[in-house]
Amino acid sequence: MLFGKYISKYYLKYGWILLFGIAALIVVDILQLEIPNMIGAVVNGMNAKPVVMHGKTFDFGLDFLLYNICLPFIVIVLVMFAGRFLWRICFIGTAFKVERDLRGKMFDKAKDLPQEFYSVNKVGSLMSLFTNDLETIQDCFGWGVMMLFDTLFLGTLAIIRMAQVSSVLTLFSLLPMLFLLAAALVLGSFMEKKWDQRQAVFSEISDFAQESFSGIAVIKSFVKEGKELLRFKKLNDKNEKANVDFTRLSTLFELFIALFIESVICIILGLGGYFVHEGAFSVGDLIAFVGYFDAIIWPILAISELIGMTSRGRASLKRVSALLDEKNTVCDSDTAVPLESVKGNIEFRHLNFTYPGSERQVLSDVSFTINAGENVGITGRTGSGKSTLVDLILRIYNVERGSLFIDGHDVNDVTIKSLRSFCACALQDNFLFGDTVKNNIAFALDEPDDETVIKRAKQAGVHDDIMGFKDGYDTILGERGITVSGGQKQRIAIARALCKDAPILILDDSVSAVDTATERGIIDSLKTERKGKTTILIAHRISSVENMDKIIYVSDGKIADVGTHAELYARCEEYKNSVDLQKLEAEKEEIENA
Ligand code: ATP
Ligand code: MG
Repeated sequence: MLFGKYISKYYLKYGWILLFGIAALIVVDILQLEIPNMIGAVVNGMNAKPVVMHGKTFDFGLDFLLYNICLPFIVIVLVMFAGRFLWRICFIGTAFKVERDLRGKMFDKAKDLPQEFYSVNKVGSLMSLFTNDLETIQDCFGWGVMMLFDTLFLGTLAIIRMAQVSSVLTLFSLLPMLFLLAAALVLGSFMEKKWDQRQAVFSEISDFAQESFSGIAVIKSFVKEGKELLRFKKLNDKNEKANVDFTRLSTLFELFIALFIESVICIILGLGGYFVHEGAFSVGDLIAFVGYFDAIIWPILAISELIGMTSRGRASLKRVSALLDEKNTVCDSDTAVPLESVKGNIEFRHLNFTYPGSERQVLSDVSFTINAGENVGITGRTGSGKSTLVDLILRIYNVERGSLFIDGHDVNDVTIKSLRSFCACALQDNFLFGDTVKNNIAFALDEPDDETVIKRAKQAGVHDDIMGFKDGYDTILGERGITVSGGQKQRIAIARALCKDAPILILDDSVSAVDTATERGIIDSLKTERKGKTTILIAHRISSVENMDKIIYVSDGKIADVGTHAELYARCEEYKNSVDLQKLEAEKEEIENA
């Protein structure tokens, strides 16, 4: 059985179902031990001896066979059938309920964890918490409770019945079983190690396959299929070896148990036969004894299985608890209040920022103001800190008090959810869900309607592309459906952000894969549609930002200058250089294309 902060309460929560299961288990155990007793009685009767059952003496005959053996036997078998069904439903059903509750709790926790948690933890290992580890806990919860009670009841009852036949024979048959228990524990721990190795190799091979399939285009373009195949072959061989090792040990274990038990039965038959010969007890009693002994084998083996299972379950519970105990470092302060409305004024005041876990300061003394309703372009070299500015406006990371204000409110004084609810963004990675185009665009809407979706897609300049897809707006994107081009992906992400119609819109590198004419169309439509609302466009291409009300030029984590295109071109050396360079490149491209 598993105990711990996140699991113990479920024994109480589902206590009555578990008690019902335990009651069914006890009934099955008691009835199960009636069967050897009946077989013994029939054998005794056949030997023309008076039949003693439950302290009463019977004459052996048809009446006895019908009323004391066959009919009760049928009833016993039927009740055992119902009892076994019941305890399985109670224990395993409850275990699935616990798994569902824990999974819900974990998802609830995971969705609130900050970005820094996801930069440290790989998706693969998080997934294994939600699958392998939860399954192990579920197994341990259901089968663990069942095994513990079954071992206790069936084991005790069988030993009592055996001792009632002959205490000496019981001692001689149980002593070797202690040795079997010790051997099972030792071999069990070896098997557990082999099991872990098998699991480790299996996750290695599935990680490798997953990564190869995701990066298949890169592999093909570098013509590295052969190299990848070789690496896969090595892993595949390793996997086969781990499986063979495990199967060899587990088969040896099973055969060893069978050999051992048969040897103990040999002792029982030899010694028991001698006792029968000496008249200590009857042949029927000896046969019943073998039946009781048979019933005790499973509880003894269950002890070692229970120990192994509990140690696996404890390890999984520890990993799951670590996730549930994870501190959310990006959360509302005690005094935070929800923002009621936002006009769209953003002010950075001498802000410094270093990513958690990193030592390099990526933003230094950043100060600028974006007035409500302004169209602002942010540009600068790659890695200069533009996306970091977006992360901070969205409060993905913590910022120093007094360094970032929305409509004059320090972002530390307002709730994160309310702040984000007034911002819409198309982030740089343009992630789209494996769902229909329509559902992707309507993601922000509580009640999606076709009209809004089409209107936003037209504004983002992607409507015509979507109409060209096989199922139009119902086309499924991603793994199960078509894969869209970089430019289409960017524009679907813009349409999704536009659907939110928020007072602050941020587009991070959202038009880089779009041709200049389409880009102009999108920017013009943004300007007219979003009049009076703040729009921030991050771009490398100067043509994307040159007509904005204001351009912020970021250089190596610092704000190099803020102003209109003409102002920056006149006074910011770096900006001027990059404008000239981009002009030169554009001219060169034109000549090459001509
Ligand atoms: P690009 O134009 O290529 O998108 P950018 O201006 O948006 O670049 P940022 O993504 O803001 O640049 O990154 C700024 C700096 O912060 C970079 O040096 C980058 O390596 C670093 N950085 C970004 N994300 C993290 C992170 N999660 N942890 C640590 N450092 C980071
Ligand atoms: Mg960026």
